[in-house]
Amino acid sequence: MTVKVAVVGSGPSGFYATEALAKRIPGCEVDIIERLPTPYGLIRGGVAPDHQSTKRVTRAFDRTAARPEVRFYGNVAVGRDISLAELREFYDAVIVAIGAPIDRPLGIPGEGLSGVVGSAAFVGWYNGHPDFRDLAPDLNCQAITIVGNGNVALDIARLLAKTRGELASTDLPDYALEAIAESPIRDVYIVGRRGPAEAKFTNVELREMGQLSDCAAIVNGSQLPDSLAGVEGSDRDLRLKQKNLATLKGFVDADPAGKSKRVHFCFYAKPQAVLGQSKVSGLVLERTRLVDGRAEGTGQSFALDCGLVVAAIGTRSEPLEGVPFDEKRGITPNEEGRVADGLYAVGWIKRGPTGVIGTNKPDGEAVAVHIQSHIADSKKAGRRALEGLLKQRNVRSVDFNDWQAIDRAEIAAARAGAPRAKFVTVDELLAAADGLTDAAE
Ligand SMILES: Cc1cc2nc3c(=O)[nH]c(=O)nc-3n(C[C@H](O)[C@H](O)[C@H](O)COP(=O)(O)OP(=O)(O)OC[C@H]3O[C@@H](n4cnc5c(N)ncnc54)[C@H](O)[C@@H]3O)c2cc1C
Repeated sequence: MTVKVAVVGSGPSGFYATEALAKRIPGCEVDIIERLPTPYGLIRGGVAPDHQSTKRVTRAFDRTAARPEVRFYGNVAVGRDISLAELREFYDAVIVAIGAPIDRPLGIPGEGLSGVVGSAAFVGWYNGHPDFRDLAPDLNCQAITIVGNGNVALDIARLLAKTRGELASTDLPDYALEAIAESPIRDVYIVGRRGPAEAKFTNVELREMGQLSDCAAIVNGSQLPDSLAGVEGSDRDLRLKQKNLATLKGFVDADPAGKSKRVHFCFYAKPQAVLGQSKVSGLVLERTRLVDGRAEGTGQSFALDCGLVVAAIGTRSEPLEGVPFDEKRGITPNEEGRVADGLYAVGWIKRGPTGVIGTNKPDGEAVAVHIQSHIADSKKAGRRALEGLLKQRNVRSVDFNDWQAIDRAEIAAARAGAPRAKFVTVDELLAAADGLTDAAE
């Protein structure tokens, strides 16, 4: 009998696992269960709205969804509409692919003030994720500080630094485009505890900071090392770091005159406290120096005036009932993706929030190989039981045709030059799935 697998989560890791299963196990049944009415996880809700070419990987996922072995059940949350225990009863294997959506806190005084937000929330807001659509960050300020030295910090800084003209061709929802374009922001600070050689920026993204039409990238040349002597890493890492150093040196030499916004790279600075009464007015930082690759405080502090602090210092997964969870590491403990008999993890819930979209692919391959060699003779009811339960509980699930109706409606509603106008609440998305497209913003 056919092997039946449920995949919880439709981000890259869920789709890669599904494709690997469908390829390896002819005639299997793979059901993708996604809590939002939309597929693709962070490709829709994380990848920057001005990086549309990165989002094109969804075309491959669409081909996976069109396979006869595969069904998509959107708007079905495990833990809300169906329990993991029920899924394990219905399917031979359950693959958990729920990502790492929870912001890590800065852990400093003042963090609770209005105007301190995590990057997952902020990025979710500008990407029209229904959970964060109402975040309404107050951008009515001249300066914003982003804590973190990875690509997420660069994404946020770049979007805040772009002009209305540059933003028009993105799929930023109108509310976010207006808030950014109308904001009086002049200065965006990107703060990192360590130095330029330790930053996790990739070079293409870093170079983009020097190509903005009305924003200059500012670097203090004295913070740039002359060479990478003593810096550890693979040859590939060192080549990337070398490129990043050259790019940052180029920023030092560039003339910022005539640009009305500035993105400042502030290295060797560790957040100490957020300033403000009820709302953020600044961030106190301690100067650091590197000792054995770690940032050590020097006791010297300084403050940046700013009205918003975005913490882009990483995220963690959240526990799902019935799935073991390591609170400290923020992931599900696993051995090459195996969590327990018939239970697997892939992607960021398995490894933590690192790597690019393609990094999730081998995770899916590994669990598919294991399932192929360990589960052969299925007596489970699979999708029949799932559909029966959803019907009994009156859950309005969204299939892939419904999603394609949403997709068409979003594309049709796009402002001139933009790829789509996202529907940003579950109600709007369901209305679009039902063909009631006048629910668009
Ligand atoms: C801001 C940001 C920008 C990025 N930009 C890039 C980029 O430009 N290029 C690049 O290569 N990589 C980028 N990445 C990395 C890439 O997005 C990740 O590697 C990838 O999305 C991780 O895949 P995942 O499937 O593990 O998690 P996710 O993509 O987070 O997918 C998890 C899915 O599970 C669903 N889910 C959660 N809980 C439940 C539940 N209880 N029941 C059902 N479904 C559930 C979620 O709704 C979501 O759809 C970026 C990441 C971030 C955070």
